Amino acid sequence: MKTNPQPSHLSSSETARYSRHILLQEIGVSGQEKLKASKVLIIGVGGLGGPVALYLTASGIGTLGLVDFDQVELHNLQRQILFGTKDVGIEKTAIANERLNEINPHTQIHTYPYKVTADNALDLFSAYDLIIDCTDNFPTRYLITDAAYLTGKPIIHGSLFKFEGQVSLFHPHQKGPCYRCLFPNPPAPGSVPNCGEAGVMGALCGIIGSFQAMEAIKFIAGFGESLLERLLLVDALSMQFQTIKSKKNPHCPLCGFDSKITHLNPKDYSQHCEIDMQDQTENNDYPLEIDPSEATHLIENDSNVILLDVREPMELQICCIEKSICIPMGQIEKRLNELPKDKHILAICHHGMRSMNVTQFLRSQGFSSVTSIRGGIDAWARQIDPSLQTY
Ligand SMILES: [Zn+2]
Repeated sequence: MKTNPQPSHLSSSETARYSRHILLQEIGVSGQEKLKASKVLIIGVGGLGGPVALYLTASGIGTLGLVDFDQVELHNLQRQILFGTKDVGIEKTAIANERLNEINPHTQIHTYPYKVTADNALDLFSAYDLIIDCTDNFPTRYLITDAAYLTGKPIIHGSLFKFEGQVSLFHPHQKGPCYRCLFPNPPAPGSVPNCGEAGVMGALCGIIGSFQAMEAIKFIAGFGESLLERLLLVDALSMQFQTIKSKKNPHCPLCGFDSKITHLNPKDYSQHCEIDMQDQTENNDYPLEIDPSEATHLIENDSNVILLDVREPMELQICCIEKSICIPMGQIEKRLNELPKDKHILAICHHGMRSMNVTQFLRSQGFSSVTSIRGGIDAWARQIDPSLQTY
């Protein structure tokens, strides 16, 4: 399988621009020409995708694809260094395109301002040599894993959670495991918050994103020892780095001998809430989700209703609704016995995603009367109680 593209020649201004690369024996003119000939697709132009795109553009990657359906929001700016204050409300890929063009007009940028889906992933991936996974949710990560395998493309994986991050190179067609060899199936709904719901360290995004960019450059120019068959674990709190060996799983559902995944089925990559919503609204009198105003009405008029706050202790210190039971989402599974099955539980979190995960999880555990509060405490503060501090 072809992994490295054919070199293409450098102009004199490119040679001057990349001279500090070219002076490195491991890169030289030929390595720089390989970078110029390469096509790299970055999925997710946020905390990780920003530094990856900035470094790859400055490094002279020939063609860079950027996939992101989102617009810049104020709370992105703490870590998404491609964007500035004036960009709030504008499509991320459009701002990124402009900014990256300023950095290096020799890099061709293609933007895809939509979600990567089971319907478009194979076509999208086919046009590139290397995929860089900078997403922050499990359904998309599994979709990228499967689509890259089916199109024969390597993936540079990066992810983070609070103060920890991980990086690896997956290229099962050549050697070593795929992401599914290590993590065969997505985690159970409700067991893991995504970065939108947990806190994220801005500088850690920079560390992990820079490692991904470094791995991409090594892979394309063909030098050094890659993270193939190795998973780098970074703990930014103790500043400890660990590299663990990762092995192919012969029974992997994707790249194993008896592979079960031979095409992309959209149902396999739906957000958990979409799948479960259909299954769970049947035969249930309680709605899956209600607005803060409906929730207030229920709390005031129905003594059978209790409020379950599933945010983290740090968040509770910022604001909290009186008389809530507080159990962080990650502890729900262990503390089920603290929850009454005969009450109508209204679950609340910051924006409504964790509470929806918990609602589905509790329903799967036999709690039939559980409802998530739409928009979380943030919406509650805006619609019901402006004295609550927002964050
Ligand atoms: Zn595998």
